[in-house]
Amino acid sequence: MRICRFTTGEDPAFGLVDGAGEKIAEISGDPLYTRIELTGQTHLVADVRLLSPVIPRSKVVAIGRNYADHAREMGHELPSEPMMFFIPNTSVCGPMDPVVLPSFAQEFSYEAELAVVIGRMCKDVAAQDARSVIFGYTVANDVTARDLQRKDNQWARAKGMDTFTPMGPWIETDLDVSGLRITSRVDGETRQDGTTADMVFGVEELVAHASAAFTLLPGDVILTGTPAGVGPITAGQRCEVEVEGIGVLANPFVAADA
Ligand code: MG
Repeated sequence: MRICRFTTGEDPAFGLVDGAGEKIAEISGDPLYTRIELTGQTHLVADVRLLSPVIPRSKVVAIGRNYADHAREMGHELPSEPMMFFIPNTSVCGPMDPVVLPSFAQEFSYEAELAVVIGRMCKDVAAQDARSVIFGYTVANDVTARDLQRKDNQWARAKGMDTFTPMGPWIETDLDVSGLRITSRVDGETRQDGTTADMVFGVEELVAHASAAFTLLPGDVILTGTPAGVGPITAGQRCEVEVEGIGVLANPFVAADA
């Protein structure tokens, strides 16, 4: 299933998206918590505004340096265990929402990432049981202010500012994520072109590692790291992140004072 969250100008609703990514069958309630029931209402994707398919219930657990080629391009050794940091849920925005670049930072980058949406409360999940706590997968852009990342010891500002974590266009619930092409484009030019097969720590290991430290709640999200090819993006440009089997997440970048 592909599950989207959208608005037609009224309260946000959830829906099932067809294989072509064109039609939405509206469902009642939040599928993270209630059984999926169709309302009978249908919409065209082109006629609605897609929202982030999930607002993380309590946290985004993000993983740094989880692709060897990206760790190398940043001049880092590979971590011996997953390197985790938090992003607040107020950083999340949806497809086509503008990423707002603040005036107190100068150097911005995109990071194409596979996002894992947790489906139920869990703690100490063994890697072989991880699939049972995963609701599905979506696409994320882990937007980063590189100058703040270098300057601040913590990455809270660099990666957690408002609108710095676009997610979407929808959640795919049935997907083998072991070898998916993951790409990013800036103004149509390919910048990253990797595969999730190159993750240092796979999705199951990441769920195990995160849940060993933190209780995970339904709607929490794990960002799984980015492949090589990160680079500058500035106000006025547009970034598209694509994960094979899910879809394309596109966002314009704008200056805060624009
Ligand atoms: Mg990242």
